[in-house]
Amino acid sequence: MSLDINKLLRDNIRNLKPYSSARDEYSGEAAVFLDANENPYNSPWNRYPDPRQLKLKSRVGEIKNIAVPNIFLGNGSDEPIDLLFRAFCEPGRDNVVSINPTYGMYRVAADTNNIAVNLVSLSAEFELNADEVLAAVTDKTKIIFLCSPNNPSGNALDNLQMLRIIEEFSGLVVVDEAYIDFCPEKSFLPFLSQYSNLVILQTFSKAWGMAGLRLGMAFAAEQVIEVLSRIKYPYNLSILTQQKAIELLENEQQKTEWVSVILNERTKLIENIKKYPFVVKVYPTDANFVLVKTYDPKGIYQYLVDEKIIVRDRSSISLCEGCLRISIGSPEENATLLEALDGLV
Ligand SMILES: *Cc1c(COP(=O)(O)O)cnc(C)c1O
Repeated sequence: MSLDINKLLRDNIRNLKPYSSARDEYSGEAAVFLDANENPYNSPWNRYPDPRQLKLKSRVGEIKNIAVPNIFLGNGSDEPIDLLFRAFCEPGRDNVVSINPTYGMYRVAADTNNIAVNLVSLSAEFELNADEVLAAVTDKTKIIFLCSPNNPSGNALDNLQMLRIIEEFSGLVVVDEAYIDFCPEKSFLPFLSQYSNLVILQTFSKAWGMAGLRLGMAFAAEQVIEVLSRIKYPYNLSILTQQKAIELLENEQQKTEWVSVILNERTKLIENIKKYPFVVKVYPTDANFVLVKTYDPKGIYQYLVDEKIIVRDRSSISLCEGCLRISIGSPEENATLLEALDGLV
């Protein structure tokens, strides 16, 4: 559905003028910078970073085949998630729709911004039903959050169900693709030109191995990206993050190799884990983790902690009774996990 961004935006954001930084106000080559009250010493750390992140964005654009005006870069995916609430959702009035179970940050950002979340349960096999999601929409719903592959279940959601939601909802539909590199054929990036209400989140924290840098991406129509850029902190990505990311993004082959090792390890780990008598079921996964239903999640979790191995106890999450979420580690780490689990038999 074509996007009426002015109707969707909060009143206070519609005409908000962004902070204009010193570096925004000149163009061209300069030799002497006396405009930003920086210290002339301690180069290069004395200078503020590029608020528009043009070099890093153009590299990201090359990798993703997306034009720079359709790219927002933030301090992790957390930043665009929070900014979407702040731009579009009026505290105490508007709401968002989210699937359940899913990634916990949508709820945290909603609570921080005093926005209600209408939850729509996935099926017992974590499948998405577009009709149920659309039925949860009210005239105050601004954003629908989908996550595919979904965390903590691991499965990719059905593309046709997601497309129906994008086509029939007049607000924004966020598709969080944090784990898409482990499931490459399913990215919605090619749909971006077709749907102006689609926002795709990706991250360098998982397949690219840069969780410590804090670098997340949002891809969307130019008018949506423009709003996020207008309300972000001017210098949201440090010089260190921008430089290091540009350097690490040179080696795309490395990422491809890591993903291939992790996918191999995932297959092996699943085969092995299935055999334990305390495992009820291993859910199908399209991500770099696997959700495992057990008879005694707390007992196994604590046993592994005592063995100095930390997994994620998801047993208190709805539809995840008995479940532990296990990230796929290196071959050595996965072998250590299996050895420890052998000790439980
Ligand atoms: C890990 C994860 C992210 C990544 O968050 P960052 O802030 O970019 O590190 C985003 N979405 C989901 C669903 C995740 O599991």
